[in-house]
Amino acid sequence: MRVAVVGGGISGLVAAYRLRQALGDAAELVLVERRERVGGILRTVEIEGDPVDLGAEAFVGRRPEIPELMGELGIAEQLVHPAGKRPLVWSEGAGHPLPERTLMGIPAGAESVAGLVDARTLAAIEEEPNRPLTWVRGGDMSVGELVRDRFGEKVVRRSVDPLLGGVYAGLADSIGVRAALPTLAAALDRGAPSLTRAVSEALPPPSTTPVFGGIRDGYGVLLDALRAAADVKIEIGTAATRLTRTAKGWHVDPVGDVDAVILATPAPVTAELLREIAPEASALAAGIDLASSAVVALALPADTALPDNSGILVATGEPLRAKAFTLSSRKWPHLAARDVALVRASFGRFGDPAPLSWSDEDLISAAVEDLTTVTGADIRPLRAVVQRWPGGLPQYAPGHTTRIADLRSATADLPGLALAGAYLDGVGVPACAATGTKAAARITDHLG
Ligand SMILES: Cc1cc2nc3c(=O)[nH]c(=O)nc-3n(C[C@H](O)[C@H](O)[C@H](O)COP(=O)(O)OP(=O)(O)OC[C@H]3O[C@@H](n4cnc5c(N)ncnc54)[C@H](O)[C@@H]3O)c2cc1C
Repeated sequence: MRVAVVGGGISGLVAAYRLRQALGDAAELVLVERRERVGGILRTVEIEGDPVDLGAEAFVGRRPEIPELMGELGIAEQLVHPAGKRPLVWSEGAGHPLPERTLMGIPAGAESVAGLVDARTLAAIEEEPNRPLTWVRGGDMSVGELVRDRFGEKVVRRSVDPLLGGVYAGLADSIGVRAALPTLAAALDRGAPSLTRAVSEALPPPSTTPVFGGIRDGYGVLLDALRAAADVKIEIGTAATRLTRTAKGWHVDPVGDVDAVILATPAPVTAELLREIAPEASALAAGIDLASSAVVALALPADTALPDNSGILVATGEPLRAKAFTLSSRKWPHLAARDVALVRASFGRFGDPAPLSWSDEDLISAAVEDLTTVTGADIRPLRAVVQRWPGGLPQYAPGHTTRIADLRSATADLPGLALAGAYLDGVGVPACAATGTKAAARITDHLG
């Protein structure tokens, strides 16, 4: 039995590992990866002698997938949690504590955003429950449209955009309520009479469990463990270029004939590979936009006077080029113990891909200048590393959940073919891992 996995990001590697678990030693597993390395948007490099992540650096620790995988793979001792420091929002030229008790920055009351927005906006939030709300049950709209109408523009730009920017590299206007905030959509579907009420219903109960987790020596540890456990033949520098059906299964160029195939590729590549065999599904995948971004990792002298916050998110419209800073050495206790202070600056958002074309020097200067502005510290990098992520994040636009449901039905009758990836059930690493597991289960069922 021969199975191909196309794409060596976390989705593809988890799929390969789950296939190995289910199919046993005899199955021949081949994974093709276009780049010269596996990991996709997970990439760990050494900076000043220690591992640093240049793509994802955390995961939602309240979801089970990654801690469970780490346990299964024998690397549970690598699980770390942030120190619990609060980020700042940079708005109107000053840092403000990130509002608490919000749903992706949408407050359940004016007090959450006091100090961040003006008195008029606070009054509008207080009044909001008294204004009739129109929401089409089962419908969708952009988060920006909903929040702007109910709470005003300043809440969108200063509270919601910075948080959505961190997850999707998108803005409130490019992200749909139903896919990004399913519990909010559910509360609105149930007939919540106001946004204030819907957010209160949708907020998870307060909890002392850390929201995020991380891997002490970087995501590279998880990638290595998955590779070893999957025992999969990996062909790097090899792009799958065409997928066709055969009498018994599938033909993947340049892998050859296989009994089953998992496409763990970004949406546009998946669209291209599905074009001949499932044109409707292909068109649906092709309609998913991507956002590009770049990360500049800075190693600074350990005594650099950084604020005691986990990061600084930049409100929309500020005259800065960076969109966010992760003050990694403040955020993670295990990084605080290092000889250098680590900071990650993020650039680029959906609709603003310009920073991707800047030179390394320009990105590094912009990171240093903007970090100086937001911290007031003397920023003198010992080392700076630039990583570009073209098309790294799919945009969950309004209607995304329906699009994905349609895409799944349009591929449901293709036996031995399964999809995984960040455009399906969430962009976070745990959601991607879950799609890999689900895809492997579909293939295992098919192969009996
Ligand atoms: C800068 C940044 C920071 C992030 N931070 C976090 C975070 O802290 N926490 C979190 O949970 N999530 C984070 N995310 C999101 C998360 O990292 C990604 O959504 C996830 O890693 C995507 O995994 P994937 O395997 O689905 O896709 P990818 O990692 O994109 O992997 C797909 C792979 O397919 C390969 N490929 C493409 N075409 C072909 C082809 N024709 N043939 C063969 N191979 C092909 C690609 O080269 C790639 O390696 C971040 C994303 C970005 C961009």
